[in-house]
Amino acid sequence: MYFKKNRLFIERVEALKVVKKFGTPTYCYSLEKLQNNIKNFQRSFKSINPLICFSVKSNSNLQILKEIKRSNMGADVVSKGEMMQALKAGISPKKIVFSGVGKKSEELKFAIEKKILLINAESESEIYEIERLAKLKKTIVDIGIRLNPNIDAKTLKKISTGRSEDKFGLTEKAFLNILKNFKGSNYIKVKCLSVHIGSQITDYKPYVKMINVLDKIIQKSNHFYDYVDLGGGMGIQYEKGTNLFNYKKYNVMIKKFLKKHNVKIIFEPGRSIIANTAVLLSQIIYIKNTAKKKFIILDAAMNDLMRPALYGSYHNIIPLLKNNKKNNKIHDFVGPVCETTDKFLSVKGFNYLKEKEYVAISDVGAYGMSLSSNYNLRPKASEVMIENKSSKVILKRQKLTNII
Ligand SMILES: *Cc1c(COP(=O)(O)O)cnc(C)c1O
Repeated sequence: MYFKKNRLFIERVEALKVVKKFGTPTYCYSLEKLQNNIKNFQRSFKSINPLICFSVKSNSNLQILKEIKRSNMGADVVSKGEMMQALKAGISPKKIVFSGVGKKSEELKFAIEKKILLINAESESEIYEIERLAKLKKTIVDIGIRLNPNIDAKTLKKISTGRSEDKFGLTEKAFLNILKNFKGSNYIKVKCLSVHIGSQITDYKPYVKMINVLDKIIQKSNHFYDYVDLGGGMGIQYEKGTNLFNYKKYNVMIKKFLKKHNVKIIFEPGRSIIANTAVLLSQIIYIKNTAKKKFIILDAAMNDLMRPALYGSYHNIIPLLKNNKKNNKIHDFVGPVCETTDKFLSVKGFNYLKEKEYVAISDVGAYGMSLSSNYNLRPKASEVMIENKSSKVILKRQKLTNII
């Protein structure tokens, strides 16, 4: 994404052309950026040859999942719906792992029928349920058990998952007990130790702690694992000046770990693959001036992009047409939804804006469209993929007739 003669371009397509052609609000992705992210991730861990399972909950668009499949990646899914979408994209069941604290029988049954690589279980009750289903189907099911390593990932509270007060995974004690209880099972094979300590982690140190915990529990468990699933969570740079995740150090750490433990590593990245590949294009409906502020009222809202309202997270906003005039007032970029939290950004001073002009909200590829809703009975946005000079719809804008 860059400006040419003050006009915003995504690859070789002018953003203004995209909004004229497809309307707003529209999620607009760059295929080149996606392919580069995948390549960089794969390159970072090339020496350990991991299985990389894209976290489908970060973005479940079918065309994007097809690109994931083309890159030989697998999928990490958290529902039957996501599993079906991954399979529909052509991803092999042998590259699918199924996570989540509340998988229903029907979802587990589906996973067993499809013979996916691993069901990563998060409670003793769930493992008993998997065993019951496996027995009914007279089959052996490979599972992972998710450990809660009690580590603070030092990220936003609401996306931290590895502390003992979080609902995810099992404590070390429960983990070891379960391992013993299911040792002789004819229907369940514990093949994997899994963790996922949170999301948008920019410091590698929580991962150092995590690897240490894994090292210890493997030594204590007297069990042979085929896989260690390290989850995802690597953060991206939403805001200039923030820390960049150190992949090199993480890789070195894992290599050391692998010298002691002969296992296949699984990763479940979402955000680090897809977040910075997309912008949300939106039109300014009105501008309301008050004594203190300018409210820039957009046609995108919290139902389209929930992250600022849900986590207070930061997304930069840029105009589609730059002029070199600046208005120094505080600008609040808000949506039309009837909630005070329906606000994307508040900044002091912005490029001079007029009603009916357009802006792009940055880094919305992860947990953007996938978290969107029909709140206020607003139809969901469309998704467009840019590839060099071409642009094509990869998800049609929802019609009101589909939701009313
Ligand atoms: C959400 C999630 C991920 C992906 O996290 P990112 O921060 O997007 O990389 C991976 N594994 C599990 C179990 C998850 O719930």
